[in-house]
Amino acid sequence: MINDLLCNEKCNIRQALAQIDRNEKGVVFIVDDNDMLNGVVTDGDIRRALLDNATLETTLGVIKKDDFVYAPISANKNTILQLLNNDIKIIPLVNEKMQVVDYSENKRLSRLPIAEPCLNGKELDYVVDAVSSTWISSTGKYILEFEDKFAKYCGVQYGVATSNGTTALHLALVTLGIGPGDEVIVPDITFAATINAVLYTGATPVIVDIEEESWCIDPAEIEKALSPRTKAIIPVHIYGQPCDMESIMKIAHDNNLYVIEDCAEAHGAEYKGKKVGSFGDIACFSFFGNKVITTGEGGMCITDNEEYARQMKLYRDHGMSKERKYYHEVIGFNYRMTNIQAAIGVAQLEKIDEILKNRQKLEDLYREKLKDVKGIFLQKNDIPNRKKITWLVTVYASTVDMKVQCFKYMNQENIDIRPFFVPLSQMEIYKKYTFSNTISCKIAELGFNLPTTYRMYESDVMRVVNILNNTL
Ligand SMILES: *Cc1c(COP(=O)(O)O)cnc(C)c1O
Repeated sequence: MINDLLCNEKCNIRQALAQIDRNEKGVVFIVDDNDMLNGVVTDGDIRRALLDNATLETTLGVIKKDDFVYAPISANKNTILQLLNNDIKIIPLVNEKMQVVDYSENKRLSRLPIAEPCLNGKELDYVVDAVSSTWISSTGKYILEFEDKFAKYCGVQYGVATSNGTTALHLALVTLGIGPGDEVIVPDITFAATINAVLYTGATPVIVDIEEESWCIDPAEIEKALSPRTKAIIPVHIYGQPCDMESIMKIAHDNNLYVIEDCAEAHGAEYKGKKVGSFGDIACFSFFGNKVITTGEGGMCITDNEEYARQMKLYRDHGMSKERKYYHEVIGFNYRMTNIQAAIGVAQLEKIDEILKNRQKLEDLYREKLKDVKGIFLQKNDIPNRKKITWLVTVYASTVDMKVQCFKYMNQENIDIRPFFVPLSQMEIYKKYTFSNTISCKIAELGFNLPTTYRMYESDVMRVVNILNNTL
């Protein structure tokens, strides 16, 4: 994106206008052949130059002003704020070689959110198309396209789009016949929707501990928690990290259990070169606004089993017979996604590789900058066979006190950080289902998420890292 703000001094006004049109910032930073900053041209400067006899072919070197404002990348927030005003709304940030590596503007100095959806692809075009077609409920071409393409992306045959990730989980459980008297094993660290979906069915959740390394459900604990009533396991690929699917599938196979993968935080992650979501009987995804790709609200069940796919569609669509209108075969639900949401989903899916790559780059930057910060550790990313993706960049402090201090200072600096999920076993309403929770409680106390949004640049990462550094 920083490239959208740069123009070589030999470019002409026409090219600069095209660049301004792209970056939507009203400005280009002028660089020489060695990429060194040597001027700034605003759309106002161009307007004045044109009125003053310049043409679209005039080169920028002729019209650029030499007195321009910039700051070193290491400059702190207050220094930059003093440079910004009503006339100068955006300034380039340079490295020691005077090359532009980033920029700063008031908007970016203000609040840094934990996550933001990235909607700069075809989302709006497809939504307009869906609305123009008048197919705005749950029939329409985008639904089928999104289901098909997302399932294929995961290496699975069938997709069943749902209203959100929670309904996807419930739909999967109902379809597999899970109900009262059954036990379903879930990890202690997850978003509450995982256990809630089990409780909706009347089955009994069994909460087990996580692995210290991966923070995912521990297969050894699953084995210990098995009972004659165990019917299913819901491994959750937490914070983008794949579970140990080989061990989990073996336990499931040996004990005749269903596996429902909760992939809400791990779109595109891989275990032994296969995408998560392609291991279990059914896998569930969420497309909430803070997930890797979003449809606003939305979810999907994917499966290779044609019969499960058919059943899930039946339950999702009021249990109504496909052959006989208003004849209901089962007590179903209305868990459908709208064509408008699916339109956003199709556009998001077109860019999923790019989105994941950008998230990865951001995490890499955090890793590099945090490597010398004592007392802060990042989530592991080098566990053999597991290729995690970046959902939220997740770290842990060495002591609880450090974590508390980090929250205090981040808050003062208007930076949105989030604590780890509260272990299910620590909540009044769930704790009676606990089987084991030693490691989960230890990790959750120390862990937190750092801002992970596509609009972050090196300076934003440095802002966060500097605060962590100063705090510790
Ligand atoms: C987000 C999330 C869900 C629920 O998804 P919704 O679309 O918000 O209903 C379920 N499980 C996990 C692990 C999640 O992170």
